[in-house]
Amino acid sequence: MKLLVATNNPGKLAEMRTLLNLPDLELVTPLEAGLPADFGVEETGSTFEENAVLKAVQYAQAAHLLALADDSGLEVDALDGQPGVFSKRFAGEGKTDQDRINFLLSKLPPDLPDEQLTARFVAAVAFANPAGEILKVENGFCEGFITRQQRGTNGFGYDPIFVVKTANRTLAELSGTEKDLYSHRGNAVTRIRPFIKKYVRP
Ligand code: IMP
Repeated sequence: MKLLVATNNPGKLAEMRTLLNLPDLELVTPLEAGLPADFGVEETGSTFEENAVLKAVQYAQAAHLLALADDSGLEVDALDGQPGVFSKRFAGEGKTDQDRINFLLSKLPPDLPDEQLTARFVAAVAFANPAGEILKVENGFCEGFITRQQRGTNGFGYDPIFVVKTANRTLAELSGTEKDLYSHRGNAVTRIRPFIKKYVRP
């Protein structure tokens, strides 16, 4: 059975492949599902959940497939929860992960020590059928703090500046398997996985 992973983000896609490694489930990308390269969904929601639902519904309807969408981002307490749902667009359009990291670091209050720069990653995942009906939504969280000294080269996005509280390493210092254990996405997908498993037909 095919499941469309409603994202063009290679980092998210790679993580989804490990997290949803189920017998008889074939994960397909938007391109593999025949969607045009410029297919996208306007993320007009004010919460991760709203945006995940928007993406799951519109990708599932467009591709006539079951679809799983993830909307995720970083909430920094000293920035009143920013960048939040604007994590991808925080530094403007067409920027690199490094541009986004530099921009976020430039916004931090200069005198707070790293350990007090508390933050969390949040992920909402939404599962929709080809008719555009939402079958299940789950959320996942990862608590930690921001470090001004980026460390590690694994993962993507803001991983090098996010220290996982319970691991005391940045997400970019963790192996893929370790990140899946601690991360917001790992958490959210682990919750929705049994539900998706029930839908799998060879
Ligand atoms: P969106 O869900 O496509 O709107 O984008 C979420 C953005 O949040 C990504 O482009 C990253 O910048 C950031 N983000 C989400 N999840 C992660 C993660 O696991 N590690 C690092 N950055 C992430």
